[in-house]
Amino acid sequence: MARLARTAGLTDVQEEILSTVRTFVDKEIIPHAQSLEHGDTYPADIVEGMKEMGLFGLTIPEEFGGLGESLLTYALVVEQIARGWMSVSGVINTHFIVAHMLKQHGTPEQQQKYLPRMATGEVRGSFSMSEPELGSDVAAIRTRAVREGDDFVINGQKMWLTNGGTSNLTAVLVKTDEGAEKAHQNLTTFLVEKPEGYGEVVPGLTIPGKIDKMGYKGVDTTEMVFDGFRIPAEQVLGGHTGRGFRHMMDGVEVGRVNVAARACGIALRSFELAIEYAQQRKTFGKPIVEHQAIAFKLAEMATKVEAAHLMMVNAARLKDSGARNDVEAGMAKLIASEYCAEVTQEAFRIHGGYGYSKEYEIERLMREAPFLLIGEGTSEIQKTIISRGLLRDYQSRG
Ligand SMILES: Cc1cc2nc3c(=O)[nH]c(=O)nc-3n(C[C@H](O)[C@H](O)[C@H](O)COP(=O)(O)OP(=O)(O)OC[C@H]3O[C@@H](n4cnc5c(N)ncnc54)[C@H](O)[C@@H]3O)c2cc1C
Repeated sequence: MARLARTAGLTDVQEEILSTVRTFVDKEIIPHAQSLEHGDTYPADIVEGMKEMGLFGLTIPEEFGGLGESLLTYALVVEQIARGWMSVSGVINTHFIVAHMLKQHGTPEQQQKYLPRMATGEVRGSFSMSEPELGSDVAAIRTRAVREGDDFVINGQKMWLTNGGTSNLTAVLVKTDEGAEKAHQNLTTFLVEKPEGYGEVVPGLTIPGKIDKMGYKGVDTTEMVFDGFRIPAEQVLGGHTGRGFRHMMDGVEVGRVNVAARACGIALRSFELAIEYAQQRKTFGKPIVEHQAIAFKLAEMATKVEAAHLMMVNAARLKDSGARNDVEAGMAKLIASEYCAEVTQEAFRIHGGYGYSKEYEIERLMREAPFLLIGEGTSEIQKTIISRGLLRDYQSRG
């Protein structure tokens, strides 16, 4: 195996899982990614393969039928999958976040109801905070749930749901009337069950068609429209209203490690493609890798791949230790996504004109990388989180 992006101190089980996933990526994902992506085709066979490997239950505790693996194992798996095709990691990511939220915050009944079926992939999760008029400013959510007897009635519109059409359980953050002064204390997470598909899937709940995107194709991203949608009060995550913001922030904290891992995978693949191409392509009588300008680019790219990987691993291990990792996850997400954008750009340049051809993988990677600068919080939002965390720990004594 190549020397980049290795991780010291893994258990035999982790090594075995990673080796299985790496083989799956090389045989079942990389050879098909280009045509599926260009056709915007859902990777149904690949998803079935992931179900068979137990990846949908990777982090779900064994008592609920999962493999009970750590965030680190999950992140390393995601890094490998994204090395093959980022959209495939998108299929499991929202599922993983919802499973994490249920495991950490669900009532025993909710855990029993969903986690065993999530472990097999029968129940597939998506999550929704964003709305047409907000993404970064989560506390400004407008979609509202009002209590009516044993139910809540939800009205409003959500935006940008990854797996919105192909999931059947969505964790949705909406406003409830808690009377709290701080806006984020008036938010509640509901567990919305729905059939897969598009249109008015149940009375009062519509999933319009897929949003046409620049990259990240194959996996569906949708809106979700509530119009008098009734949901029983027992579907409030954790059984208490007003705690949704905390639930979601816990979800995105692990989600940020995941996005960092994806960025590592895409950067690694871009580097692999570039170093291969640079040894094949000749200009001025020698392979371009023998021009120092190209060799130095490769050295810088590899250093960025390695640095991002180490920070991603550090953030995952910290969360696994039980500590809060908001600053470290923010740093890992920030550096991995920014480096990923830079490394894909350099790999593209090394490919010369061919990098602009749809025949070459780098064209796809170039369109995937920018999403990582935005999803699970933009770079500006990561810097906000990091600087707030730093000020907590480095308070002036003056
Ligand atoms: C393909 C895709 C899939 C997605 N999937 C999901 C999903 O599954 N679930 C979900 O809930 N959301 C999802 N999102 C939404 C995503 O999380 C948001 O797009 C993201 O958080 C940014 O929000 P925004 O688009 O509203 O940008 P805005 O918040 O409007 O920001 C616009 C710009 O202003 C900057 N900015 C905003 N506030 C500040 C500030 N305080 N200081 C400095 N700069 C600031 C931002 O960094 C950005 O550059 C997805 C988005 C995409 C594109």
